[in-house]
Amino acid sequence: MIKILANDGIDPIGKELLEKAGFQVDTETISQEQLADALKNYDAITVRSATKVRKELIDAVPNIKLIGRGGVGMDNIDVEYARSQGVAVVNTPAASSLSVAELVFSHLFTGIRFLQDANRKMPVEGATQFNNLKKAYAKGTELSGKTIGIIGFGRIGRATAKVALGLGMNVLAYDLHPSETEIILDFQGGQSVSIPIKTVSLDEVISGSDFLSLHTPFAEKPILGSEEFAKMKNGVGIVNCSRGGTIDEPALIEALNSGKVAFAGLDVFDNEPTPLAEILTHPKISLTPHIGASTNEAQERIGTELATLIIEHFKK
Ligand code: NAD
Repeated sequence: MIKILANDGIDPIGKELLEKAGFQVDTETISQEQLADALKNYDAITVRSATKVRKELIDAVPNIKLIGRGGVGMDNIDVEYARSQGVAVVNTPAASSLSVAELVFSHLFTGIRFLQDANRKMPVEGATQFNNLKKAYAKGTELSGKTIGIIGFGRIGRATAKVALGLGMNVLAYDLHPSETEIILDFQGGQSVSIPIKTVSLDEVISGSDFLSLHTPFAEKPILGSEEFAKMKNGVGIVNCSRGGTIDEPALIEALNSGKVAFAGLDVFDNEPTPLAEILTHPKISLTPHIGASTNEAQERIGTELATLIIEHFKK
């Protein structure tokens, strides 16, 4: 029987599919240090973003024939090395796009109405300072009619554009690989509208947007740093649901403190799982702990897709 360790868990639907196909699936989480030992009893491992599958681990467990990543980013796996050793590596790139895009708007709606601050202050000051807090949050903004700049126009960038267009926003997009894409909006009653989006330069996106959202893979050098902040509109809102490292965090804090950036929404951080205290306590930052793909719907899609890929691989 083929044995799989789902070290960062797997949706019950995926587990059931695998078990029905005759696989054994264990979902206990083994620590990174004990993984090499534990994996000697398995044929495959599945991970999300927490477990690292590096060269040393791959070398230590030649019995492992497949590494499955539930989700998109493979920066926690030495993919090329694994493949060079004959280990298959599979992932589920499209399954979480909509959930990540919707989280972008959770952060945007939070930022434009100061919810990140109100949710912290209301429990403490709501009964004594109600009217003062009301005044502090009096200058909210609407998203409709504003421009969102999308940096990285792949699956999630395009899903974000679709939600933005549905809300009546304008979209500016930049990607390393320029493209012209039709975004299809489907409406109740079966009607649909197709809106073409042509990517423009990074400078145009940075200087022309009221809100910016990052959707690129991990970058060795931040895409947004002090030089880019200087070119942005005053009072811009920035969301990062991509990867830590894509925004220069100290420069972001400076831009928030100066008022250049009105608010930020962060799901990803330089130092995961121990983000900078200055980030965690900043009143203008809406925070989530890397939960872009953490919806029941995305996890079901990820689990189903991953199970299907694993079954296909071993039944070949
Ligand atoms: P994708 O590969 O479909 O799109 C990424 C796009 O970024 C590509 O079109 C690529 O050309 C472009 N790109 C790469 N480097 C760039 C750069 N320096 N400047 C501009 N464009 C650049 O990937 P995706 O599925 O859209 O995922 C995007 C990111 O979201 C990934 O980093 C992924 O890890 C992250 N993600 C985060 C979560 C979360 O929980 N927050 C969940 C899923 C994915």
